[in-house]
Amino acid sequence: MATVIASATVTDTVFDASVLTIGVDVRGTVADEVEVRSVSTSHGESELAEVPLVRTEDDAADRPSDDYEPTTVTLWNKWTESAELLEPGMELLVTDAEIDDYGAETGFKTTGDSYVVVEPSFLVDVTSIRNWTECPRLYYLNKLSGVPLNYPVVKGTLVHEVFGDLLRGRDLEDAIDARVEERGLQLGLLGEDPESVAEDVRENAQAIEGWLEQGRLTEEDSWRSEQLLISETFGIRGRADAIRRGAPVELKTGKNLKKEPRFKDKVQAACYALLLEEHGGDVDTGTLLYTKNSALDRNEETGDLTPAKEFSMGNGLLKYVVRLRNEIAAAEVAGDVPTGYEGNAKCEYCFEQDTCMVVSGRLDQESKAGQIGQPLPAEEREYFERFSRAIEAERRAVHREYAKLWEQDARERADDDRALIDLEFVEKRELEAGRWELRARRTGGATSKLREGDLVLASDGHPVRGQSELARIERLDEDEVVLTADEPVAVSRLDVYPSELTTDRLLVALHDLLLKGDERRKDVLFDRANPEFETIDETFIDNNDAQNDAVEMAVGARDCALIHGPPGTGKTYTIARAVRAMVDRGERVLLSAFTNRAVDNVLEAVLEQLDSAGADDRIVRVGSESGVREDMQPYRLERAGDPETRLAELEDAQVVAATTATCGSRIMKEQSFDAALVDEAAQLTEPGTFAATNLADRFVLVGDHEQLPPVVQAEGGTGSDEPRAADLTESLFERLVDCHPDAGVMLDRQYRMNQRIQAFASREFYDGQLRPAEPEVAGRTVDDLEGVSRDALPATLRDPVAFVDVEGESSQYTDEAEAARVAELIEAYEDAGLDRADIGVIAPFRAQVSTISSHVPADVAVDTVDRFQGSSKELIIVSFTATGSLEGPIFEDYRRINVALTRPKRALVLVGDSRALSSDPVYGRMLEWAQT
Ligand code: SF4
Repeated sequence: MATVIASATVTDTVFDASVLTIGVDVRGTVADEVEVRSVSTSHGESELAEVPLVRTEDDAADRPSDDYEPTTVTLWNKWTESAELLEPGMELLVTDAEIDDYGAETGFKTTGDSYVVVEPSFLVDVTSIRNWTECPRLYYLNKLSGVPLNYPVVKGTLVHEVFGDLLRGRDLEDAIDARVEERGLQLGLLGEDPESVAEDVRENAQAIEGWLEQGRLTEEDSWRSEQLLISETFGIRGRADAIRRGAPVELKTGKNLKKEPRFKDKVQAACYALLLEEHGGDVDTGTLLYTKNSALDRNEETGDLTPAKEFSMGNGLLKYVVRLRNEIAAAEVAGDVPTGYEGNAKCEYCFEQDTCMVVSGRLDQESKAGQIGQPLPAEEREYFERFSRAIEAERRAVHREYAKLWEQDARERADDDRALIDLEFVEKRELEAGRWELRARRTGGATSKLREGDLVLASDGHPVRGQSELARIERLDEDEVVLTADEPVAVSRLDVYPSELTTDRLLVALHDLLLKGDERRKDVLFDRANPEFETIDETFIDNNDAQNDAVEMAVGARDCALIHGPPGTGKTYTIARAVRAMVDRGERVLLSAFTNRAVDNVLEAVLEQLDSAGADDRIVRVGSESGVREDMQPYRLERAGDPETRLAELEDAQVVAATTATCGSRIMKEQSFDAALVDEAAQLTEPGTFAATNLADRFVLVGDHEQLPPVVQAEGGTGSDEPRAADLTESLFERLVDCHPDAGVMLDRQYRMNQRIQAFASREFYDGQLRPAEPEVAGRTVDDLEGVSRDALPATLRDPVAFVDVEGESSQYTDEAEAARVAELIEAYEDAGLDRADIGVIAPFRAQVSTISSHVPADVAVDTVDRFQGSSKELIIVSFTATGSLEGPIFEDYRRINVALTRPKRALVLVGDSRALSSDPVYGRMLEWAQT
């Protein structure tokens, strides 16, 4: 923190009006400790802070003589509060600064128009600023334990939705009926009657409607609902409830009988004013609409019952809001846990006082409310500390993604697979409830991370500076993209929308395990007790001992069981058989996995099992329409409808299938199960796994820690910058396999690969234990496929494993020569009769995926290892794209080659530079195996 030192005196020259330039934006990195001091001026006593700042290249380009040496930026008066938050290395932006050439050196100083923004790239949400106003610790508690499913929250959401509908011109009664119907499942879980909910919403909505009627009388009134706004200057983002004549309108479902809006509500409206000003607005008023006011009886209440309260937006409030925002950004970047002493809230009036004290007591945190309860054991607190830091590092990584929205230009984002650009807007079509379907033509063949079902920023050119809306990708074809959005943007570009939802849910899952979790569960997880098993005397699978053992362990586990399933070993079948055995015993089972694809695959196998047992009507799939596979849609739980019916569908289901992310949703968090089976567990972070396992009495994890680990965004690991991020890359599965080896079984018979193909992976990754399940598997070649003849292949390709030596090029991420060779290989296999759909090409880098794609027919699957995990093809061609040596982290994790080499069934061709490959011992052994 900055130090406050004794007062000194400077002359008034610093305020001299003879300034050289007005309105310079100064941005840079704080170079050293910052001192705050008091000085006497002719205006009286003032505070100042001199910040040594290394300006960023762009800014410094204006002043070449600067030569990137630290320059001093003087922050005056109230801005010294923000200066006190600064640490060396933090980013700072000062807007509208003056050049200050007092003294020997030239620097900058704040003016009356200046804003000082700490860590401007960290986008703070408007709701966070509002919560922070109430109490900084409340903001932390909300982040840690999430917002539970309760009626006031659902009612608030409904009223907001109806407000949006009214703004879009929908009829009030239609809107209420539709919105209440949409929330059928949530209302069912809360035991609410739709009629009385509709009445509640109506009471609130009538105030809105009445007020809107006045607004509509004016011709020049212009309205917009729920617009997502991002400010790259102030580092704030949020969705304003509505904007009327360019000014923000916020809806509150409570009452307020005072003349003035509540302070925290004004703060929220002021945030939107800042956001709007950055988008070219000039905002001098804000409106708060307290909808409950119009439902009150004038004879019973005293005070100002008017629902709409306007206030004028002074500069002082806007600057105060930025200072609050700075407090949050600085705390987030430094990883500080708020104590409550930062604010002025009185704990005795706080609704969360009990929670606050319990969390403080259990985690042994300092808080203004004090502590109750025994602290968690030291190792659990240390665990919490490590993982919450790792999760916060992930959050900061998400924020760095936000900053890229304006730091990278369109072409850079497209090249980075973060955007689809150069779209041609085709048409808009109005849907029900005032939403819009938007269509745009794709003009290039670019790949991107965007997938159907993703939320994206759809813009008319720039996601932050242009017209932009949150939209969902409904269809993404080669030549066209179809979206749905609240506003009809003329889409020409789509950007990945970085979401904090995952990090939020990880934090909540961690909290739920440690603060609400079962003690026995924690004993096992912290290696204070060994998992226990009941003896099961039943044969479930009679032709595969390891699979049968795995089902026995899953069924008999009292705490947990671990099923290690290398590629092709029938883990999906094993899970399905275990689920059937549990269902037969009358248990309620949660079936989960990291991705929707894996959930649907395993659900398909479970359906086959239960169908033969006549029990498939007891299955429910929880997920969004776009996330769930077409053939699993009949099992998807509709959320809209009659609350009792929807609730019964969910609660009567004996098997509920959902991704681990969905397990952290408010709906799933209300459910409990006898057992949770989690597939792809080696790709899940520890807290990510808890989202599912927290819901069940015991759990079974299924995965292969010799394949790809959990994906984390934060780089960190060993550097001082993000020291804890690496904790998330080890899965709970891997840790438990290590600490409780007796709780696990490895499936050792594989049903996928020719024996020659599997030999290297078996030796290198599975201690030689992996074997073909049957002679037919061991001896399979492309010859077995209809119309394919191995003899028609060149002699070098007749063996199931072949190596093609291609001298590498110097480019790091692409290799044209390898791409051309891959195309020739595909032709050779096609000539021998192999269908293109049976061929897969794997490359380590996206750039090489694009290069190869441009050389080969479109119906050949070309992708990275990450995308191929979980699938298989008859023939796999791997392009190593390495020259001279194997450089880069992508080659360091040998699990990637394990995944690549275990995708084919009948043929594998490795294409690469033998010199580069032999420079590493593992790749060297691979080369030897492929060449013999
Ligand atoms: S109890 Fe006190 S410190 Fe805790 S959140 Fe409430 S006001 Fe803040």
